[in-house]
Amino acid sequence: MNTDDYQGYREPCLSLMRQFGVRVWSEVVARTAEGTFEGLILPRSETADTQHIVLKLSSGYNIGLRADTIHELVETGWKEAHYRIPEKEFPVDPSRPNVKLFGTGGTIASRLDYRTGAVIPAFSPGELYGSVPELADICNLETEKLFGVFSENMGPEQYIELAEAIGEAIRAGYHGIVVGHGTDTMHHTAAALSFMIQRPPVPIVMVGSQRSSDRPSSDAAQNLINATWTAAHGEIAEVLVCMFGPTSDRYNLLHRGTRVRKMHSSYRSTFRTLGDVPLATVARGRITPIKHDYARRRDDREVDVRAVFDERVTILYYYPNMQPDLIDALVDCGYRGIVIAGTGLGHVNRKVYPALERARDAGVQCYMTLQTLWGYVQMYVYETGREILELGVVPLANMLPEVAYVKLGWALGMHPDDPDRVRALMTTSIAGEMTEREPHDGYLVFQGGVPELDALLRRLWK
Ligand code: ASP
Repeated sequence: MNTDDYQGYREPCLSLMRQFGVRVWSEVVARTAEGTFEGLILPRSETADTQHIVLKLSSGYNIGLRADTIHELVETGWKEAHYRIPEKEFPVDPSRPNVKLFGTGGTIASRLDYRTGAVIPAFSPGELYGSVPELADICNLETEKLFGVFSENMGPEQYIELAEAIGEAIRAGYHGIVVGHGTDTMHHTAAALSFMIQRPPVPIVMVGSQRSSDRPSSDAAQNLINATWTAAHGEIAEVLVCMFGPTSDRYNLLHRGTRVRKMHSSYRSTFRTLGDVPLATVARGRITPIKHDYARRRDDREVDVRAVFDERVTILYYYPNMQPDLIDALVDCGYRGIVIAGTGLGHVNRKVYPALERARDAGVQCYMTLQTLWGYVQMYVYETGREILELGVVPLANMLPEVAYVKLGWALGMHPDDPDRVRALMTTSIAGEMTEREPHDGYLVFQGGVPELDALLRRLWK
């Protein structure tokens, strides 16, 4: 045996493995103080603790066996796993719509690297068909890997490249677009595309997964199937996010790109529409609208791509006792726009007023949004609100803070020398980012998995 047989294992596990004549990729029956387990010994992460041997059970889950609980390891076989997804050429059927999938990275494009224990982007879009063959029943899919990054590394440069690539694909005649993306900042990119790509004639559907495709509970395949269906056959020609509705795998929700937000760090049903109800559900080849005021698919291929962004914008998340020097520092650093996420109806403390005044005088535009996420900025209710308005801070109704940040970067890019036009653009809703009113029953109700939506769906699905 050579050291490769024990990839990553150190004492005391190393001696145990030698003693029982097993190695990495041995199929074993392990008798331990906790019970008997059957599985495949996986390589050990170099940075993980030294006390455990990791088994992949036939259920697909991995468990760690603590060395001092192991009585016996019996090798029953040996099977080296490569965790490569076969690249297969997508079958083309001229009767099916053509969809373009752009890969940007994230968990949906990942597998686990057993050597380091980390999730790494290693899933080229060309491998999709190999792992989700159902996609071939939906459309002719072409893939293009634009980036291979976790989504915290997405930013204006990538938004611009992506928007331009989508514009070209639409002009080239694709019937729908899918964008594979990390979930963490998917709502930022969805907002950026909603502003940069105006009046798209076809659906632009963003999709990700909370669990990588090598895990039995992965949401990757279902999300991809539903997103691809929506792009190929859906009637909603807007930027959408397609992710799990309930925590179970019954259906996905389609969220408008400017009203959606990641709300849970690990649930698969992490995306929620805020300030409104989701646009539709999608499951088993059927899209069921919940709202009807959406832009409809068109046959033309006209699309207006305005891929610009001024990076000198920021979000300031207010907290009690914020000091004015923070705002002064932003002005000194050359920021041109600040989106404040204020408390309650849109407030900050008196201490920062002089700094807001200095920002205004330096030509830095300040906008107010809400930490509560639901509801409207209303700065006429309290005296403090009125005072902040007088300092030139502009209220943004129910625009979400991240959406306002993205929109401000875009608006400053659109009108670099015209602050009035920037202000006019910011206060006009162009992609559903501000709505007249919240639905009375929207707040956490029509969000998937809750009884109210299930009752509605039972009626709609009849
Ligand atoms: N950290 C990952 C990302 O946003 C998580 C995911 O893809 O879900 O890229």
